[in-house]
Amino acid sequence: MIYLRNYPGKHEDPEKDEKGPERVVRCRAVDEHHRLLRKSAEYRARRREIEHDVRQWLRAYGNNGLRTGLIRIPVVVHVVWNTPDQNISDAQIQSQIDVLNEDFRRLNADAAGTPAPFAAVAADARLEFALATRGPGCVPTTGINRVHTSVTGWTYPGNGMKAAATGGADPWDSSQYLNVWIVNFTDGTLGFGTFPGGPAARDGLVLKHSATGRTGTLIDGADRGRTATHEVGHWLDLFHIWGDDGTACYGDDLVADTPNQAGPSPFSPAACRVFPAVSCSNGPDGDMFMNYMDYSADQCLTTFTAGQAARMDAALHTSRSSILASPGLVPPTGVGPDLWCKDTSDDDGTEPNPSSQPMYISDDIYVRRHNDGLANQDHENPEYRLPGGPPNYVYVRVRNRACGGPGPSSSIGQRHPRVCPGPLRGMAA
Ligand SMILES: [Zn+2]
Repeated sequence: MIYLRNYPGKHEDPEKDEKGPERVVRCRAVDEHHRLLRKSAEYRARRREIEHDVRQWLRAYGNNGLRTGLIRIPVVVHVVWNTPDQNISDAQIQSQIDVLNEDFRRLNADAAGTPAPFAAVAADARLEFALATRGPGCVPTTGINRVHTSVTGWTYPGNGMKAAATGGADPWDSSQYLNVWIVNFTDGTLGFGTFPGGPAARDGLVLKHSATGRTGTLIDGADRGRTATHEVGHWLDLFHIWGDDGTACYGDDLVADTPNQAGPSPFSPAACRVFPAVSCSNGPDGDMFMNYMDYSADQCLTTFTAGQAARMDAALHTSRSSILASPGLVPPTGVGPDLWCKDTSDDDGTEPNPSSQPMYISDDIYVRRHNDGLANQDHENPEYRLPGGPPNYVYVRVRNRACGGPGPSSSIGQRHPRVCPGPLRGMAA
């Protein structure tokens, strides 16, 4: 199931070459998924529920066509480094965010190379990613958390990088942020992401520092940021395109518009497979080896399908829905409340003065045509309504930009957080 390939690292220390080439393990996400399924009855039960919810959501909304609005995911990157070369630059991290924003919007420059039969089902997943601007405790943040560790290298299996107590970095609330740990894997692992339903303290992506982004010192074939694109796919409940059945033809990725495929495509920095590459009687078009959920090297990967986009959307509106209401991308204004916030039964909050305090007015108004009771709704044109069709429902999410009222100290970190109600639900207008 796991395709291993020896590679000569183009930027690797020459001393390493004397010890022999390293192997590459493209992804450990499904290994981790299977490990948890074996170990945890709770995970098994939760995964059954999640799959049930996904199917139900797709039955209810899957025929509406792809979502027109954008969803933006707040990201925190924990750089867990031992030697300076592992402490990758802000620019390298930003290049990874840029890649995600291209690949999940189908704005990637190499999309044009998708073979026509597969381009026909390729989709803009309407997802964007941004480094968090508001951290835990309502403090401003760059979304990058650098932690020096005495751990010289990490191997799979193991989640030690996800806890300070074991030389890693504690996650930020994984219901509010996509946590990404950058580490020095020494067993060839390029990355692994967690599926929805696992332990909250381990939720997120782990990436090898030299398979992150598209600038900096990178492994051949993992130098265009597609390791993260693939692992975010898992985080949003996508399976490998060949169905994780080894090289057999019975496995299913639970997505209808990806062809049945025998096994993973090879990870080769030197060459991509040639279209059409037929397996499992899937001619004439063959394997979709350019799909992000295959194992092809980065330069070969160009595509998510509409079916995959719908499945990710289902995850975002069920098991991952809490992240849609995250304040992680609402920059704190620092001192004093701005949105009027009722924090006690005898509220003494004051309404903001719009001439002296910034108002947050746009990103939190959502309109959709069905009342599904979710906290956060897709942006749609408020004027859109089918002739004679059902009404639009307007939901207003209220989030406080600031970090509470005056506290006992001038240090923002010591202010008492104002207790606000969570995102308001179901405020149909
Ligand atoms: Zn994978």
